[in-house]
Amino acid sequence: MEKDIFCKIINGEIPCHKLYEDNDVLAFLDISQVTKGHALVISKKHYENFLTIPQEEMHKVMDVAQRIGQVDIKYLGAKGVNILSNCYEAAGQTVMHFHVHVIPRYEGNEGFILEMKQNDGELNLPAIAKAIKKEL
Ligand code: 5GP
Repeated sequence: MEKDIFCKIINGEIPCHKLYEDNDVLAFLDISQVTKGHALVISKKHYENFLTIPQEEMHKVMDVAQRIGQVDIKYLGAKGVNILSNCYEAAGQTVMHFHVHVIPRYEGNEGFILEMKQNDGELNLPAIAKAIKKEL
């Protein structure tokens, strides 16, 4: 299987600005900073995305994402943090290796993915909730 770009970063074939590393998890700065400190947290083992990674592995990644978010607030001057994981191309996933974005938010840069919000009045919320709930 051809290695994706994050596998190459894990192997040291491509450099990165490393924030954290242990046996299972690597965190580094995103090459395209949405905001100052925008970080990526990835599993060292290759899984496609958040929906396909085993829970135990996912939790290790989320623990590190939480800690980075706490540091952003405490030491980087962030007033908030967006933690998100794009799953599949239709949702904007461009690197098919599980990763979590940790995006610090500062005063004066409001607005983000919620700009895609649809008018609730046009959607049948009870039907949507029912369809999801019955499969959980
Ligand atoms: P996605 O769009 O898949 O959710 O996020 C992939 C992210 O990986 C993008 O934000 C992109 O900027 C970042 N990225 C892609 N290639 C590299 C790279 O070589 N180094 C680093 N540090 N980030 C990368």
